[in-house]
Amino acid sequence: MVRDTVRGWVTERYLPIVAEHFEAGTFPHELTGELAELGVFGPTLPEEYGCAGLDNVAYGLICQELERGDSGLRSFVSVQGSLVMYPIYAFGSDEQKNHWLPQLASGEAIGCFGLTEPDFGSNPGGMLTTARKDGDDWILDGRKMWITNGTGCQVAVVWARTEQGIRGFVVPGDSKGFSAPEQKHKWSLRASVTSELVLEDVRLPADAILPRTTGLKNALMCLTQARYGIAWGALGAALACFDEALQYSKERIVFDKPLAGFQIPQQKLAEMGTQITLGQLIALRVAHLKDQGVVTPSHVSMAKRNNVSIALQVARTCRDMLGANGVSLEYQTGRHLCNLESVYTYEGTHDIHTLAIGAELTGEQAYR
Ligand SMILES: Cc1cc2nc3c(=O)[nH]c(=O)nc-3n(C[C@H](O)[C@H](O)[C@H](O)COP(=O)(O)OP(=O)(O)OC[C@H]3O[C@@H](n4cnc5c(N)ncnc54)[C@H](O)[C@@H]3O)c2cc1C
Repeated sequence: MVRDTVRGWVTERYLPIVAEHFEAGTFPHELTGELAELGVFGPTLPEEYGCAGLDNVAYGLICQELERGDSGLRSFVSVQGSLVMYPIYAFGSDEQKNHWLPQLASGEAIGCFGLTEPDFGSNPGGMLTTARKDGDDWILDGRKMWITNGTGCQVAVVWARTEQGIRGFVVPGDSKGFSAPEQKHKWSLRASVTSELVLEDVRLPADAILPRTTGLKNALMCLTQARYGIAWGALGAALACFDEALQYSKERIVFDKPLAGFQIPQQKLAEMGTQITLGQLIALRVAHLKDQGVVTPSHVSMAKRNNVSIALQVARTCRDMLGANGVSLEYQTGRHLCNLESVYTYEGTHDIHTLAIGAELTGEQAYR
């Protein structure tokens, strides 16, 4: 039911406008209220905060169907739920939870997650952003880069170095000294807002810190939540491409018969259908492990790494099957292909997940 509801909404409300937004480099903010109505913001969090209290299979299917629309749409929702609501829920005080979670669930507030910096992406532990004490207050200074939903956000979860290590902070978007200029000229995730965060002597009260954060591992726990959604979401993008190429192959006549009647396209379709199904099985298995509370970051690394890689290969193959039309925004495949290049890089690059799985298997860390 969840899958069909989200699929129906994406088909009716989002697909007709996404290409326009992709070309213009804008996100359709007017749909935020409808997304909240659907219950997709923080869908696994409890109902007492206005969330849907769903299980992880339902959450995964939501991501799959949103990304069938566009990776930018799924990113918007992943950041809000997994990277803003989850840390406030998991590491926040009761006051922070009661203040922010209902507003974020209803879409009245939009949040962003500031971890990456210009010089520190795969290695966020090197971050230069600092939070220092001044009396009871905190003063934050630094710059974050590549931050989804930054511009115009009502709240930013910002990770900064303190004397006690890296901690998370809840920064209201209207704080003095905080700004979030948009990063333009992307050719990927164009229908998603990406921003720099500038923090210049941002003075925050003592209770702006997320009290249960103790180090970088808490930021990584948030990423595990979001990566789980990506593992499902990327397959949604792959399915959109697959469906388009399948339909196209039945209609496109080459050498007097449908493309679908030739063996090479059939082999491509058979391989893609199989790979997408295998990816869904991994995602479903991780969903069950997550619901049982026994999932590990390596399980999620395996699912994210594998499924985004499959999706990118599927998008490339489908782009080829569409011929010249594959580079036109009148078809969806080229847009998904461009988007998936970002998905391959963000939330831990493909290679970083390879090294995380390698470290788990061998006990040897090869990334430093
Ligand atoms: C559209 C978009 C949206 C994003 N949204 C957010 C967001 O909301 N919040 C946020 O905090 N960040 C966000 N990011 C940032 C993203 O998470 C980082 O770009 C990513 O972690 C990679 O970091 P980097 O770009 O600095 O690449 P680098 O870390 O410089 O990596 C460059 C290359 O080096 C490789 N590499 C790095 N270290 C090693 C190693 N030890 N061994 C072998 N190879 C290595 C990488 O795999 C990669 O191929 C976003 C990025 C994009 C593109």
